[in-house]
Amino acid sequence: MNQEMEKLTQWVGESRKMVFFGGAGVSTESGIPDFRSVDGLYRQKYPYPPETVLSRSFFDRNPEEFYRFYRDKMLILDAKPNMAHRKLAQLEASGHLLSVITQNIDGLHTLAGSRRVWELHGSVHRNTCMKCGAAYPVSAIAQSQGVPRCTCGGIIKPDVVLYEEPLDEDVLYGAVQDLQQADLLVVGGTSLAVYPAAGLLRYYGGKRIVLINKSPTPYDSQADLVLAGPIGEILGALPDGV
Ligand code: NAD
Repeated sequence: MNQEMEKLTQWVGESRKMVFFGGAGVSTESGIPDFRSVDGLYRQKYPYPPETVLSRSFFDRNPEEFYRFYRDKMLILDAKPNMAHRKLAQLEASGHLLSVITQNIDGLHTLAGSRRVWELHGSVHRNTCMKCGAAYPVSAIAQSQGVPRCTCGGIIKPDVVLYEEPLDEDVLYGAVQDLQQADLLVVGGTSLAVYPAAGLLRYYGGKRIVLINKSPTPYDSQADLVLAGPIGEILGALPDGV
């Protein structure tokens, strides 16, 4: 085991309130593309950039085009949790991890068995009629054509936070509280370019910060330990029961 892995193993083993803060890079090993990697959505050919098509004003103006992109690029429903998701769930069960704060909307942390998950940007698995508030499973979106409609005629909207929309206050509050009491912060699979999510890290009240990412981030210089590489492999290499 190299020095960085030894340190990570030691710090995770000593922690009783680790918080993991992650993003799209956590799910690339599950086959879900992120935004900013070389094969991420920003580099794929599409008439509109993701930030435009995933904005609230675009959704309101052009829901058909929104749903074309959303079904094609964001709903990857056969994706399975990878070693990163599974290890974080194990660390919670063994009393090392307090919670996962994620920018992802794919629901894979919960599917892996994590219980305390703050989904800052919502989840594709929750969908609501904008007119009557009826709830719909993701299958209703995946299996419908064009703009999905409720039986009342209203448009069904995914409970994902679109650009220009505020974050859910209860989720924000829960995430901030956990960061304030955390004794280890592990940040992984995120470019830390999306605000206000990335700004939450300033609420961390502990000492040790670990960063696990394939490419450099603006936060590298503030981390006590930086591991460059695939997060599933890195977290998966932690010994069982640390
Ligand atoms: P991002 O695309 O901006 O950055 C991803 C980062 O992860 C990059 O720095 C990349 O180098 C790194 N990375 C990629 N694969 C990795 C791996 N296997 N191991 C370690 N690092 C890896 O993603 P972001 O910072 O989360 O911001 C993008 C926004 O897009 C978020 O708000 C998120 O909600 C959304 N998004 C979500 C999903 C999802 O739910 N899976 C997918 C795409 C985008």
